[in-house]
Amino acid sequence: MSDSRKRNRPAGFATRAIHFAYNPLDYHGALNPPLFMTSTYAFENARQGGDRFAGEEAGYIYHRVGNPTVSILEKRLAELEGGEAGLFTSSGMGAITAAFWSLLQAGDEVIADKTLYGCTFSLLQHHMTRFAIKTRFIDMSDPAQLEAAISDKTRLVYCETPANPNMRLVDIAAIAEITRKHEATFIVDNTYCTPYLQRPLELGADLVVHSATKYLGGHGDLLAGAAVGSQDMIDQLRFVGIKEMNGAMISSMDAFLVLRGIKTLHLRMDRHCQTAQKLAELLEAHDAVEQVYYPGLASSPFHELAKRQMSQFGGMIALELKGGMDAGRDLMDALDLVTCAVSLGDAETLVQHPASMTHSTYEPEERIKHGFTDGLIRISVGLEDYDDIADDFTQALDGLGK
Ligand SMILES: *Cc1c(COP(=O)(O)O)cnc(C)c1O
Repeated sequence: MSDSRKRNRPAGFATRAIHFAYNPLDYHGALNPPLFMTSTYAFENARQGGDRFAGEEAGYIYHRVGNPTVSILEKRLAELEGGEAGLFTSSGMGAITAAFWSLLQAGDEVIADKTLYGCTFSLLQHHMTRFAIKTRFIDMSDPAQLEAAISDKTRLVYCETPANPNMRLVDIAAIAEITRKHEATFIVDNTYCTPYLQRPLELGADLVVHSATKYLGGHGDLLAGAAVGSQDMIDQLRFVGIKEMNGAMISSMDAFLVLRGIKTLHLRMDRHCQTAQKLAELLEAHDAVEQVYYPGLASSPFHELAKRQMSQFGGMIALELKGGMDAGRDLMDALDLVTCAVSLGDAETLVQHPASMTHSTYEPEERIKHGFTDGLIRISVGLEDYDDIADDFTQALDGLGK
């Protein structure tokens, strides 16, 4: 899609996901962006090399700082999130650490929602503390708690919504308003939604981070991460966080695959959401199930907020069984089509046990404090036929305790 658009209205989400920031005619007519497999770039002369390092001339230098295939992907995600600039990394944790290490220094305070992906929690709770950066965990679904906790020392406010693994939601606009008053930076991990369902920057967040390993890649065949925000902030993440601190640049091959994945994001998300809604209702009605956590259910305390800030309710479900953790293990073992595996957002329906797997970084007593039980099971609803997914859960649930 040429940047000088001939049309008089902005192109839709799917069109931009397929075309934005790439014109085949600039690359020998190649319909798909070429894969630039090179670690370094030749300079015309020594002066040019120096100018590029000094930032006085635009152009590529070395893969850790930028690559043409990666640049197309970065522009495309920034466009879809409604941000000025984007950055891709070799994993979601690469993007999150690039953000923290670029934006924080010793003595700063972070305020985070109490439920976070296991490694993000561990990074804040156990590792940033080694560099004198303290995190206070609050229930951010209640904005009054942020109002009470925020201070001059607060540099960053951080959340996931819906949160991994228990599907709690945070009101992005309300948190952004409080954060802005205190001149802190508000980061939202948008992995569960992708920009197709939710655009935190439009609601007032300052930076969005992603595990692109999940829905953006969409096929369970790569690891990648991303960040989108103002040009200034993305420059800081790129030139400090990635270039000089964690080195977590995405490979061009993985960037190529994420570009391919994003072309079908809208179709996949529609299907993930449709199937998840039906499956959540089926699970909620089953006798063996204690509680289902899914914002599309009328029983969810977050249903109204989800309708306001998400366009659909997503493809992730959490549930607790009446038989607790033992029943959860039996359920995972009894499923046949559905695969027991961590990660999410793939074509395959996946089920896992956060307390012993993705969130085993929390101590047992921390799990309750941070909002999830040992019996919680997490489902990433895949793209198989709904009837086959439903039949598998039904047979596995019916068999519990027999
Ligand atoms: C998986 C995940 C991450 C970490 O991403 P990686 O690509 O595995 O490094 C961060 N946040 C959320 C919400 C995730 O689900």
